[in-house]
Amino acid sequence: MTTACHLLDLDGAQRPFVETLVSRARQFKAGVPNQGLRLRGRIVVGMFFEPSTRTATSYAVAAQRLGAVWLDFRSEESSLRKGESLEDTMRTLRAIGADAVVVRHREAGFPHLLARHFPGSVHNAGDGAHAHPTQGLADALTLVEEFGDLTGRRVLIVGDIAHSRVARSSAKAAHLLGADVVLCGPPLLLPSQPAWGFAACTSDLEAALPGADAVIMLRLQIERGTHGELPPADDVARAYGLTLQRSQAMAPHAILMHPGPVNRGLELAPELVAAERSRIAHQVENGVYVRMAALERTLGHADREHAA
Ligand code: ASP
Repeated sequence: MTTACHLLDLDGAQRPFVETLVSRARQFKAGVPNQGLRLRGRIVVGMFFEPSTRTATSYAVAAQRLGAVWLDFRSEESSLRKGESLEDTMRTLRAIGADAVVVRHREAGFPHLLARHFPGSVHNAGDGAHAHPTQGLADALTLVEEFGDLTGRRVLIVGDIAHSRVARSSAKAAHLLGADVVLCGPPLLLPSQPAWGFAACTSDLEAALPGADAVIMLRLQIERGTHGELPPADDVARAYGLTLQRSQAMAPHAILMHPGPVNRGLELAPELVAAERSRIAHQVENGVYVRMAALERTLGHADREHAA
């Protein structure tokens, strides 16, 4: 659900929503004047209950570039440990002036729950295997920068699709912009839900690689699988890892993406991480700009800017 004030997922999003945020992110990247005044005085709280490098730091940078104050809520050191309820915690954060919270949690739906207890804006920075909307938007921006119009472009997402919140959000964003999305992995790691009806599925990587304009590699989400549910990492890597040799089957113009963290030598050969066709660093950089666009929009300043 995505509303004017929250950014929870892209499940019900429409094309104009993605287009608007991507184009606003491009404006930020090109240098919008007085960026630092947009959210001056606003308070954005990062609540990361799961590890994060890229998302947490780029949200913090995005908030600060817009003039907002970024606060880290350390769940392990908070009164949640003393038995305070989530509802009371959110009330407390609001009482100290928090305008937005950016939350990551292992439970799918946690940000949606939190949004019920918080009158400000809630951003989902990753909930279980469900959604990671700003990664989807960062990937969409990366694809648009590369190809312009995505109509008819083929985006191949490879690896542990079933447990990947990135796959869901990036596939949805690319699909809304007109791309053909193909999901590739072992049958056990392909999705079963009808929500994925827009994407084609295959387990034949060799056949899928040559026709792709962009290949998004994903790591095996070992933290999501209960014991015995996931195939062994080495087996998946052997069958679906992008080796140097396999990468030669990619079209010359095709780009390589990965949301990170990369498990080098498993889903991706170490030499490919910074190869010429790699856009992994662009994805990280673009994460800052889409998060600026998303914070601005949900905190209600987008209209003011567009009118200016
Ligand atoms: N960083 C991404 C996420 O939090 C991708 C990953 O961890 O594999 O979902």
